[in-house]
Amino acid sequence: MKILIATEKPFAKVAVNGIRKIIEEAGHEFALLEHYTEKSQLLQAVADVHALIVRSDIIDAEVFAAAPHLQIVVRAGAGYDNIDLATATARNVVVMNTPGQNANAVAELVFGLLLYNARKHFDGKSGYELKGKHIGILAYGNVGKNVARIAKGMGMEVSAYDFFNRIELIEADGVYAHHNRYDLVAKCDIVSLHIPATPETVKSVNREMLELMKPGAILVNTARKEIIDEPELLALFKERTDLTYITDIRPDLHDQFVEALGDRYFAPPKKMGAQTAEANINAGLAAARQITAFFATGCTTFQVNK
Ligand code: NAD
Repeated sequence: MKILIATEKPFAKVAVNGIRKIIEEAGHEFALLEHYTEKSQLLQAVADVHALIVRSDIIDAEVFAAAPHLQIVVRAGAGYDNIDLATATARNVVVMNTPGQNANAVAELVFGLLLYNARKHFDGKSGYELKGKHIGILAYGNVGKNVARIAKGMGMEVSAYDFFNRIELIEADGVYAHHNRYDLVAKCDIVSLHIPATPETVKSVNREMLELMKPGAILVNTARKEIIDEPELLALFKERTDLTYITDIRPDLHDQFVEALGDRYFAPPKKMGAQTAEANINAGLAAARQITAFFATGCTTFQVNK
């Protein structure tokens, strides 16, 4: 089988070498397309491949149509909203993600962003401590669990809500489980977002939810910009001058956020959540292992379009 890594933004070299090793040791052919600048390059490269490993690359109907032999696409990472699942399913292509492989990286960034805010962007002014603050984790998946672990280590009060109401799972970790997201938002000093972008969650972080935030509360987003109703968040935060928004993913309305909120808003120039050597390598190697297992045994454990 021919297995292609197609990454506009490449994996670390050590990850590529590891992926190549796994693929070749399993007797498959390895191919690499990095730093492509035109979609036509991707369309050409997929013409004869049976499997595809991607990162945030857009795999839409046109790409599927250009890849008649494609059997499996693995998104090396957690979110798979860059892949057209309906088309994949219609063409009998298995789509997987690599859950958990970058979760610690994202969780650590939550605290990097929070500390940067707590210490007033390191400008020399007196800040505040995270110890004793109440953090509310919205969606208790792989990232959410890691956020809880770190928060407990910092002496924070930790609670969570997951849409699938994983109450027992949350409580087993010694975390208070809320029964709905409104309750969580109303009780916490910091609300940390970890919901995937799906048709149900897009724009779900809206005024109705955010106006419940406690005085002086902080909203941290390391999930996706699509889950935020940006105009509603901006309008509310203009009125509520006690609230702060910190996000790993720049909103479409970034310039308006900067102008209206000043220091009560922060977004790094580029999404940094999974940008660590460890996450990069873990996710890449997991993708390669999942593909070789799929071809060897038909294993579809991490399939997301079942
Ligand atoms: P995960 O799949 O382990 O957890 C997601 C959680 O959300 C699950 O507990 C699930 O119950 C809940 N959920 C699933 N479908 C839902 C729905 N329709 N509505 C509401 N809740 C739902 O994912 P994760 O590894 O914890 O990552 C969470 C999200 O963070 C990803 O989906 C991705 O969008 C984002 N992410 C961002 C970065 C970054 O670079 N900033 C990196 C990794 C992940």
